[in-house]
Amino acid sequence: MPSVVICGAGVFGAATARQLAIDGWDVTLVEPVAAGHVRAGSGGESRLIRCSHGADRWHTRSARRGLELWRAIDPALVVEAGVAWFARREDGWEAASEVALRELGIPCERVDPTTLFPSVRTDDLAFTLYEPEAGILRARDATRTLAVQAVAAGARVVRAAARPDGPRVIAGDEVLEADHVVWACGGWLPALFGELLSLRITQQDVLFFGAGAEWETPDVPGWVDYDGAFYGLGDLDGRG
Ligand SMILES: Cc1cc2nc3c(=O)[nH]c(=O)nc-3n(C[C@H](O)[C@H](O)[C@H](O)COP(=O)(O)OP(=O)(O)OC[C@H]3O[C@@H](n4cnc5c(N)ncnc54)[C@H](O)[C@@H]3O)c2cc1C
Repeated sequence: MPSVVICGAGVFGAATARQLAIDGWDVTLVEPVAAGHVRAGSGGESRLIRCSHGADRWHTRSARRGLELWRAIDPALVVEAGVAWFARREDGWEAASEVALRELGIPCERVDPTTLFPSVRTDDLAFTLYEPEAGILRARDATRTLAVQAVAAGARVVRAAARPDGPRVIAGDEVLEADHVVWACGGWLPALFGELLSLRITQQDVLFFGAGAEWETPDVPGWVDYDGAFYGLGDLDGRG
């Protein structure tokens, strides 16, 4: 049986652990906190999940496969709200996305955004592209589900901060060896492998606004202003 030590139980580490455990590997998952904890990139309530990736067909296909797989793992993890893309230009990222989506048979349409949102300013928009199959992934719950299913499939969890020791992994009192080691430590990777990789860690601010019932998701879709680097969703579970 092939063996693997996976360091980090964010969405990438937990998903890898789950799949390899299901495939019959001997899996050890090392995590100092908990899957999807509040400081991890995979923590928090929600993420937009959508197929649009500009002209990039590979990521467009991959995102659609991801949506199918999340639904297969647990349909409750995906909120089917749709996502609206606010295009400021006729020839921008959204137009390239539209071509790729149509080519790959993924539903999308140009819509009047005032039909989707209780209020929205449109005078600076060239058009709005709506992706009805897109939506919201319950981020923390999804990451925890992956870790729980990894354990159910036989993975062992070690609660410790791992550090590399040549091909081995030091995790608390344990020295772990396996055929493969996966370092899935997200923003912590430069602290572990600063000499090997250059990674710029950025911060995104998440804001919650009080909103009336007319802003409830899934009736209100997610939205992205790609050129403005803003995105959001309606009121999910009363959190604003
Ligand atoms: C605010 C925000 C909004 C985002 N919005 C979207 C979105 O809408 N759509 C989308 O697709 N993506 C979005 N992303 C990106 C996506 O969430 C991240 O790319 C993804 O969650 C990163 O997962 P990860 O497993 O690489 O890292 P993380 O989730 O950070 O996991 C790394 C794990 O490694 C653990 N770790 C650290 N050091 C060690 C160690 N020494 N040993 C063992 N374990 C260790 C940590 O405790 C952590 O649990 C967003 C991210 C953020 C922060």
